[in-house]
Amino acid sequence: MIRKLRLKFILTIMVIVLVLLGLMLGLVLVFTRAQIERDNIQMMREIALRPRTPALPADSSDMNLPFFRITVSKEGEILSCVGGYYDLSDEELLYGLIEAADSGEGETGTIDSYHLRYLRHERPSENVYVFSDITSEMRAMKGLITSCVLIGLAGLGLFLVVSILLSGWAVRPVAQAWEQQKQFVADASHELKTPLTVILTNAELLQNGGYGEAEHARFASSIQTMGQQMRGLIEEMLMLTRADDTAQTKTFQRVDWSNAVNDSIMLFEAVFFEKGLTLQPEIENGIFVRGDGTKLRQMVEILLDNAQKYCRENAVTTVRLSRKGRFALLEVSDEGEEISAEDLKKIFRRFYRVDKARSMNHSYGLGLAIAERIVTAHKGKIWAESRNGVNSFYVQLPCEAN
Ligand code: ADP
Repeated sequence: MIRKLRLKFILTIMVIVLVLLGLMLGLVLVFTRAQIERDNIQMMREIALRPRTPALPADSSDMNLPFFRITVSKEGEILSCVGGYYDLSDEELLYGLIEAADSGEGETGTIDSYHLRYLRHERPSENVYVFSDITSEMRAMKGLITSCVLIGLAGLGLFLVVSILLSGWAVRPVAQAWEQQKQFVADASHELKTPLTVILTNAELLQNGGYGEAEHARFASSIQTMGQQMRGLIEEMLMLTRADDTAQTKTFQRVDWSNAVNDSIMLFEAVFFEKGLTLQPEIENGIFVRGDGTKLRQMVEILLDNAQKYCRENAVTTVRLSRKGRFALLEVSDEGEEISAEDLKKIFRRFYRVDKARSMNHSYGLGLAIAERIVTAHKGKIWAESRNGVNSFYVQLPCEAN
């Protein structure tokens, strides 16, 4: 799919470039040719309007140019020929040229077999024919056409290279999104496979005879547990999808960030207390951000939930919110097993768990991925640090003025 997209991109650019180059070079050729022809005919007209001279005038330097003029009486007799550039002694040839010029429709035209352009000018008592050699004009045009073709080919080659490079750059986000999507489907299927296998096996055992009531109850309970686990996973996957929708910043509002964090802390106070853990808030009041309040609270709850899940016994979890210049910095730190530098880089990935065995315990490795999506959609930054047995998660969001 990505290859096809890249190919289409290159093809589109090349067609546009081909049309544009063709049009530009074509116009250059047409206008240059018209200009040369116009200048040439103008010169011929000037020569035609000069009074007849029986011989070559001394100052007619332009007559040495590739022009010659024949004046013919109304009866068709050649009265004079002027043109230093040519040998005009062959009268038969001159009459042939006059005849060819007369057979043409307009005032001007070309005699291709002689590479000549003519201009016919009628006077009351005589007709004047001016001829011009267009060999050099044709050669110049040929040279120009060759140059245009070469420039066109070089331009096409250059744009081909540029479009190949550009296409790689342009489709990279699509390729990444595509890869992520594939990885997500693969991971989600893998996560759903285990509980589904357990459910199917237990359902089969339930159908088979030969088991007592106690076993039946155990099989049913396993099915229920696995069903709940699947529901939990699906709910988290839906949450992740909705976190992607947060990117639509149109719905963002001014959020009292201090209040939102306090609300989330209140929700978790009982959970921490039940487990014998300490939750220690240090919240600076009056910090506002722009965003989706519900999603931001959801993000704080993910961090608090992780803190109570992964901290050691009797640990203290500190939640700090303070203003740091133009930003609001939220810190959720708990005392727990150190996260290695390697794992710190990966924990925000979808389905990544440091302890793989925890999946049975409603830990699917999606929480931090959801949190990261929400923070990124709010133009913020989220990162984790682990030092001296304290695991800290930081969220930096742009502040709104009070
Ligand atoms: P889940 O908690 O569902 O496994 P998360 O994406 O929230 O998924 O977390 C990913 C992993 O990061 C967890 O499995 C855990 O190993 C690690 N982790 C997250 N928060 C903490 C924390 N506060 N302390 C220690 N490890 C953590």
